[in-house]
Amino acid sequence: RGQQVKKVVVIGGGITGLATAYYLQKEIKEENLPIQLKLVEASHRLGGKIQTLIKDGYVIEKGPDSFVPQNSSPITLAKEIGIHDTLVSSAWGKSFVIAGGELYPMPGGSIIGIPTQIAPFITTNLFSLTGKMRAAADFILPRSPVTDDQSLGKFFRRRMGDEVVDNLIEPLLTGIYAGDIDQLSLMSTFPELHHIEQKHRSLIAGIKKAASQTENEQKDGRFLTFSNGLQSLVDGVEVALGPQTINKGMKVSHIYKEAEQGYTIEFTNGHTLDADSVVITTPHHSLQSMFPSCPFMNYLKEMPATSVATVAMGFDQSAIRKNMDGNEFIVSRNSDYSITACTWTHKKWPHSAPDGKVLLRCYLGKSGDETIVDLSDDQIEQIVLEDLGKIVDLEGKPDFTVVTRYKDSMPQYTVGHKERTKALYQNLEEKLPGVFIAGSSFEGLGIPECIEQGEKVVRKVMQYMQ
Ligand code: FAD
Repeated sequence: RGQQVKKVVVIGGGITGLATAYYLQKEIKEENLPIQLKLVEASHRLGGKIQTLIKDGYVIEKGPDSFVPQNSSPITLAKEIGIHDTLVSSAWGKSFVIAGGELYPMPGGSIIGIPTQIAPFITTNLFSLTGKMRAAADFILPRSPVTDDQSLGKFFRRRMGDEVVDNLIEPLLTGIYAGDIDQLSLMSTFPELHHIEQKHRSLIAGIKKAASQTENEQKDGRFLTFSNGLQSLVDGVEVALGPQTINKGMKVSHIYKEAEQGYTIEFTNGHTLDADSVVITTPHHSLQSMFPSCPFMNYLKEMPATSVATVAMGFDQSAIRKNMDGNEFIVSRNSDYSITACTWTHKKWPHSAPDGKVLLRCYLGKSGDETIVDLSDDQIEQIVLEDLGKIVDLEGKPDFTVVTRYKDSMPQYTVGHKERTKALYQNLEEKLPGVFIAGSSFEGLGIPECIEQGEKVVRKVMQYMQ
């Protein structure tokens, strides 16, 4: 296409859009390509769900707080922008689960709630003898006859029984997806478990074997973040991209396909931009509204997204009269609690609070229990303190409370999600060539998966632009 300058616009400045723009820019520079790149973001800041607040010596994550190290895409991106020396690992500490209103230590050696060591599972009081015997049936139950998709609930309940699911597996999964496990898709969340069952029949035996084969991987369940917060990854990419590439405060309203070729992007402020290729990394509801006359995207309107909130509270150490000997707890649905989890952040992440201070971070909101997110800050603070008071002895009010609401923000990959996403990609390729999508609504909502989707979509754009 000669030396005519082509235009690529990345829409959305969350971690997916940032990774996409970063790796696109890298390609353009390295190959000296005649491509002009723009990143447009609706709000006046970058990072999307990633938001770090640094205040009075605290490093407070309003949204995500860390990532799993098994997928190295955030580490690679951190190296690219030169902040990998600020990576920190979570400190080891005990985890608990509140089931039926009681606090139990998390049974050691379990992966997503499936035991890989028998002793901690036999000795835990988290499950009754009947519950344990039912879970042991996993060793003799046949493989599931379902070979396409099924719900996580159906899969786990069949193999492990209701009690292990309700007291352990469900609250662990709620912590990741804030979803209803009886709706969530196995193939879009843990497809490897389906393959393990098909190969080994027993989930417990298969996971034990798989775990012993990943000797070199970090297996102690530790997480990573940056000492200046996850926002430092966002800020580093922002600097690398430069102000000429980034356009904040630009909310896309519609995208039109031009008769000849290319697209016109229309913004709510009346501006327009032309593009040869567009990468949309916004949540799925936003994406759908950009193409109101594309019937193949209509289903995205119905794709659920759960509302959640995080509540960070700072205390003086002296305000905690009786403490919990651990770093975090998760809460099962059969407990009379409103919070779904709480982290003793100052213990798990020692960099996150000044000496002598305590930083607790609680989560609220899950599928079927989202209205709580709409309460006022004061009401939310009250509810959280009441819940915490059942576990620890707190004196007085916190020094500060930061409530952050994430409305309709946890995309729910319900049964069939993978097939629907595949069909969406196909439709885009046929009907809107040059338009690409990536991000947490499609192929994984963890930060590593979002970055990886950014890298993947860059390869698609490059192929298209050749
Ligand atoms: P987003 O961050 O949602 O970014 C999308 C961007 O698009 C936003 O900036 C938005 O303003 C912009 N946008 C939307 N519409 C338009 C428009 N019309 N025009 C222009 N721009 C638009 N993951 C982990 O790995 N570890 C964790 O610990 C973790 N904890 C989490 C805790 C919470 C409370 C939440 C909500 C999520 C958590 N996640 C975690 C998931 C992870 O944070 C997200 O999946 C990920 O950050 C999403 O990135 P994204 O770029 O795909 O989307």
